[in-house]
Amino acid sequence: MGLSMLSKIKKTLMPFICSTPVTKMFETLNQGKLRILFYHRIAPAHSLERLYEPTMFVEENEFEDQMRLLRDQYQPVCEQDVIEALKGNVRLPGKAVWVTFDDGYKDNFLLGYPILKKWGIRATFFVATDYIDRKELPWEGCILEALQKTDARSALVDTDGRTLIFELSNRKQRRLAGYEIIRRLAKKNILNREKVLSLISKLQVDLNKMDLSFMSWDNIREMADNGSFIGSHTVMHRPMTKLSRDEVSYEIGESKRRIEECIGRQVFSFSYPYGKCPASLSDPVLFDKGIEVAVTAKTGPNDLTRAEKFRLGRFDLGYRNAPHIWKFKLATCRFWAKLKEYTAGAEVV
Ligand SMILES: [Zn+2]
Repeated sequence: MGLSMLSKIKKTLMPFICSTPVTKMFETLNQGKLRILFYHRIAPAHSLERLYEPTMFVEENEFEDQMRLLRDQYQPVCEQDVIEALKGNVRLPGKAVWVTFDDGYKDNFLLGYPILKKWGIRATFFVATDYIDRKELPWEGCILEALQKTDARSALVDTDGRTLIFELSNRKQRRLAGYEIIRRLAKKNILNREKVLSLISKLQVDLNKMDLSFMSWDNIREMADNGSFIGSHTVMHRPMTKLSRDEVSYEIGESKRRIEECIGRQVFSFSYPYGKCPASLSDPVLFDKGIEVAVTAKTGPNDLTRAEKFRLGRFDLGYRNAPHIWKFKLATCRFWAKLKEYTAGAEVV
């Protein structure tokens, strides 16, 4: 089925399927299951057009609508509630939603945190400690942004021993080139600082002018002191599926130690970079470090009586959602994710 046909079906059916009775029906099916939302970045209102990678962002006005809706119609819970529920000490309310952020971007503190505070929602911020300590660069973001900012109309890139040419005539080509380069580098586990720096210098983009701003430890401490939770997102943000057991152990243990040293509080939660949990990772690695809950990017509402506490599913509901669409997505969870996968597949073809 072509994309235009899918768009037509979507346009015709969406008002109906997003109508309150249908949303309510799905809502009933998910009653009692924990839904975990995840975000990366918050953008100033009406600024998405100018951003290098809009899918990473939600605009602040949209985020505020979402948090208001959660407060009015759902039951926001925090990390501590989830851990107690996993231990069987408490039961979560029927419409429990846990809000989480990954990576540690500065806009989380500047734009997201004030809104969360206003609506009394205690989110968890998963941070990669070398991003905060400025020892590492966010590889994918750098590549995507450099490709959007360069004046070059094409680029020769050596990814995995082969040199490929990428056309960069428009924003879409630039974005697709970025995804392809990241995919190739990540596949070979060669997504490293040197490789990315050499790519950026070839594209003649000034690293200092790129938006690489992360929170400071002061920002993070302030949020933790005021009811937010800080979780580990490893040290270097490497894909854990590509690491040895010792490296995994280091990434978890060292990031946890560093956060605890900087905020003066214990860390109990963990988020897998790229959302993927290695199949070979046995729970003791996490247990040893004192982690009580870990989240993936696998979509799905979580039935905590049966869920694996180190593999909880989360939802990224995307950006530019009218409030009723967002509510519908939140209500339908898994169904929506499947539909998204299907339509994304159709778009590529
Ligand atoms: Zn991440």
